[in-house]
Amino acid sequence: MYYIFTSDHSYEEVKGKAVKIAGLEWLDLFAHQISGSKWMISEGKTGLGVLSSPAATLKEAETEAARILKEAGKEAIEEKINSALKTNGLSPRYHKGSGMEKVFSALLEKLRKQARGKRKLSYSPGAIGITTLLACPLKAEFRRKYPDLKAEALEIDDGFLFEREVKDSLKLLYPKRIKDELVVTYEAKNQKIEGHVDVVLEGKEKVLALELKHTRFLYHNLPREPEEIITGDDSYRVAIPEHYITQAAIQKALLKRQFEKEIAHFLFVKTMLPVNGSGFKKVYVIRPTKEEWPVEKLNGLIEQFLYDKSPRYPWECEYCIYREAGVCATKPWNGKTEKLNCPEELPEQVREAYQELQGLKVREKDLVGYLKKELSGKCFSVNGNGKLVGWVSRITYQWDKNRLYQELKDRILDFVQVDWRKCPLLEETLGERVEEFRKAEKKAEFKI
Ligand code: SF4
Repeated sequence: MYYIFTSDHSYEEVKGKAVKIAGLEWLDLFAHQISGSKWMISEGKTGLGVLSSPAATLKEAETEAARILKEAGKEAIEEKINSALKTNGLSPRYHKGSGMEKVFSALLEKLRKQARGKRKLSYSPGAIGITTLLACPLKAEFRRKYPDLKAEALEIDDGFLFEREVKDSLKLLYPKRIKDELVVTYEAKNQKIEGHVDVVLEGKEKVLALELKHTRFLYHNLPREPEEIITGDDSYRVAIPEHYITQAAIQKALLKRQFEKEIAHFLFVKTMLPVNGSGFKKVYVIRPTKEEWPVEKLNGLIEQFLYDKSPRYPWECEYCIYREAGVCATKPWNGKTEKLNCPEELPEQVREAYQELQGLKVREKDLVGYLKKELSGKCFSVNGNGKLVGWVSRITYQWDKNRLYQELKDRILDFVQVDWRKCPLLEETLGERVEEFRKAEKKAEFKI
């Protein structure tokens, strides 16, 4: 079976026939027809087309493919294949396993494709979205350079599905009033901003705007067990990420410029909230956007976007697909960590989460002390997975470092690292020459 990689970033099965090119027999190539008449040659592991456009006959397609591939050479071809495998994964043609495993692999692929549907946001040339404005500007550059690199995760698919469900329902309820992905605009310093508001319902006097989000988990400080729908004042007790709130506030400000009507903007979030003692509960949070965002503040953001090409949040690189794909050598955090004066400056939910964590640490210490006594001389296996809890005997080794060094020579470097506890001593030993032996790297770390 042969598969091609399609423009909506999934594999699609096609009828194909093997093609061998003299001198490049190691390549798994196949020919298939496009639109029933023209011919394309594609590569088997990646499903990527070799020709820039399909040829009129099979013979022509083969000749052109041979020319292109021979011109590129083995190294470039392998590089292209490896980079495509990193981003798109291996074609189902190469999936190993039983028939059943292949069925599941095809099913999962299909589910992903269906979740994504036909959603594609379009921007006029040079314009960027609000989320891009609030994120590391390098991501926008990499997006242009590597359009095939896309973030993939089950929760992203769930987000697309949630969006579709909401939009489809509103289309059935208010077919005449709904505006799907309404574009709001702004421009400064020659940089166009085009924000897409997920859903807008325009009434005679009011405009209702929704920004839809699907997140896997949010913290809250509700005084009681969360209900299925959280709205009004309670919605502010759910710790919605700050960049969602800023995005919502900017959308609202831009909508105000566009409509001479009252704007009721909401973040409509599907998420899970922790429930005391019994895991999590799936809920909807309907949060009115009360934050005001003077549009002039956008000028500052635009300036930052144009001139400060660094991550906007300390956690941003950690979750970035361009770092994962190896196209961005993670930029050092620019050190712009905002230092708050005291815990009182933190939003209430954040402060309470921190206090709860401190409480848990104390409780953890107590419990460990108690278990140490109660399990004296005993241990047990957790879930039968081999992990032992309690008093477990194990053998420890004292390595003879001199003998290891004599035996391993240069390979010793693969096994040893500087003991951080002995760093000050090492620095003292190396004296002024210490910087010749190390490279400083500034990193943002999360500390509790
Ligand atoms: S890895 Fe960090 S610096 Fe590089 S694009 Fe991503 S967020 Fe920006």
